[in-house]
Amino acid sequence: MDGLNLDVTQGDSFGFEKYSMCKALNMVQSARRAFASNKTRSTKFRKTQLKELVKFLEKEEKALCTAVYDDLKKPKAETILHEILTVIKEAREAVNSLQSWVKPTTVKSTIVNSLDTVKILDEPYGVTLVIGAWNFPVHLTLLPVIGAIAAGNCVVIKPSEHAPATARAIASLLPKYIDSECYPVYLGGVEETSELLKQKFDYIFFTGSPSIGKLVHQAASQNLTPVTLELGGKSPVYIDNTANLKLAAKRIMWGKTQNCGQICVAPDYVLCSKEVQDKFLKYAQAALHQFYGDNVRENGDFGRIINQHHFHRLTGLLRDQKVAIGGPSDPKDHFVHPTIVTDVHPDDAIMQEEIFGPILPIVTVESYEEAINFINQREKPLALYVFTGCKKVKKAFLRETSSGAVLINDVLMHSVADGLPFGGVGNSGIGAYHGKHTFDTFSHKKAVMERGTSMLIDKIDSIRYPPYNNTKTKLLKTVFRINRTLPVKYVPHLIMFSLGVAVTCGAYYLNKYIQNEVD
Ligand code: NAD
Repeated sequence: MDGLNLDVTQGDSFGFEKYSMCKALNMVQSARRAFASNKTRSTKFRKTQLKELVKFLEKEEKALCTAVYDDLKKPKAETILHEILTVIKEAREAVNSLQSWVKPTTVKSTIVNSLDTVKILDEPYGVTLVIGAWNFPVHLTLLPVIGAIAAGNCVVIKPSEHAPATARAIASLLPKYIDSECYPVYLGGVEETSELLKQKFDYIFFTGSPSIGKLVHQAASQNLTPVTLELGGKSPVYIDNTANLKLAAKRIMWGKTQNCGQICVAPDYVLCSKEVQDKFLKYAQAALHQFYGDNVRENGDFGRIINQHHFHRLTGLLRDQKVAIGGPSDPKDHFVHPTIVTDVHPDDAIMQEEIFGPILPIVTVESYEEAINFINQREKPLALYVFTGCKKVKKAFLRETSSGAVLINDVLMHSVADGLPFGGVGNSGIGAYHGKHTFDTFSHKKAVMERGTSMLIDKIDSIRYPPYNNTKTKLLKTVFRINRTLPVKYVPHLIMFSLGVAVTCGAYYLNKYIQNEVD
């Protein structure tokens, strides 16, 4: 990236050159100049940039896979699917749909505004900031960027310092493809991010933990900057005895072991009866064997924990727990075996924080009502998973709980369903994205109205001007009472009728005037 070494003051613990406050300011000012030049307003420019982003992902696939492997030991197949193909798919959708997305939305006419033009314009916010997360370091950084570009914004891109190889790959390779003035990449850790957040942005999109989300929200509030906060938390799973337990165990263990459990919507803990638990454990063991064979550690399809800090945090959560499946770990390569713990008490440390690793606690409950109560006493989850064959239970969970999403009889899959918004509620986040929702997130919905200036409209308008009288008030009451959408097919008739009345009145007064002249 040009100027990667500008304003370097000293190296930091992640091996990045330190970005100073001056660097953050320069980057934002330069992006602001680029935005003011209006080049990002052109849809042709946006499409070209999105196509270049696709080219970057296709041509640099090898470099990105290597970087993600260095950071997370993520299997190549998972990187290609989650980090490359998914992002390409979203960028292509944006290119193909942009023309229809940017079309103004026409608002249906009511009697009050039937002679006006009323529409909603999607306007770019300006200079935006995207702060990515390390667990899907390409995907979670670039997916929001796609929507920001499509909507016509400039974007300062901040990859996570916890996936340093990927952050460096993005910073050094992306500017070869997309406009680096409009879309600069900013590197750094906590200190540098804090500097960046002191700058004025027009929109901030943050992915990370609820605690840092609050700091970002606070910083944004200084400038009343709108935010999307894609946060995390504990996503519960409820399983009852009407569920297909073998399938449930396979799907849950898949969701818990993908990316080594480091997924914001990974199933965090299970609520079920003792009877269901015993059967679930048997099937979960079989599923793990099917996925990873006799030796999980040697199996290249199972990843590693991102760093020492998270490794020790996770193994700490296992202290004093009853391990039913798994248990081994190794600090040398941050290996944590997929592990299920039972007889977990709601007050245990493992139930107080998001696990974000391949450990699954089971808390026993007697009924679905107890499970709903348990969930409702805690923060609103990003995802809620219900495994049941019972309609009444499904309905109860949908109606009586609140979460970013509910998925019945599977885990994670809602996050890749076309058309669904992805985001949390309450402690799990603010706002949502994916597909057209990302474009909407990065667009200010500008209300636009154009009024006619004809005499007819002015005449109709006269009821709003003083002097007021009872007739005007009565007329206003009638208009408000019957004000509803006017079927479009009647609008021309109404206009013709009004013209007819106007012409008749005109002819009448003209005739009268001529008569007077003759007399
Ligand atoms: P984090 O909140 O600890 O850090 C996120 C980023 O914030 C860091 O990269 C850093 O640059 C910055 N930061 C950290 N401390 C800061 C401070 N004091 N001031 C300013 N900036 C600071 O999150 P993480 O460890 O990167 O990611 C894990 C969390 O993210 C989990 O809670 C997970 O559920 C969540 N997550 C959510 C989604 C989603 O889409 N909802 C996706 C992935 C991860």
